[in-house]
Amino acid sequence: MAPHKSQSNRGDCGEMKQIIKKNIRVEVEPGVKLYRYNTDEEQIRDCEEMVSQIKRHVDNALYVSVEWDTLEVCSFCGYDWDTDKETGEPFCCQKAIEEWQNTK
Ligand SMILES: [Zn+2]
Repeated sequence: MAPHKSQSNRGDCGEMKQIIKKNIRVEVEPGVKLYRYNTDEEQIRDCEEMVSQIKRHVDNALYVSVEWDTLEVCSFCGYDWDTDKETGEPFCCQKAIEEWQNTK
């Protein structure tokens, strides 16, 4: 099946594909369930109030963690890493394509 093939291609492109961290952030889950709000602004206001409390003394924070999303990008051009599903050949730039051809 195709997934096996694309995984082996992914391995071949290891030096070109780069994984970077995005949206590094702290997330806080309120210890009390927040009820329905009529508007987003009301909810945002409450969240901002919680941020103030956290800044004062980390009040009512049940869970806090540092989070980030990851994004696969080309180490040559920095664009999103995308390859041909069949061959594994990258699309983004000539340098990645040449490198991919050299590793074949
Ligand atoms: Zn590229």
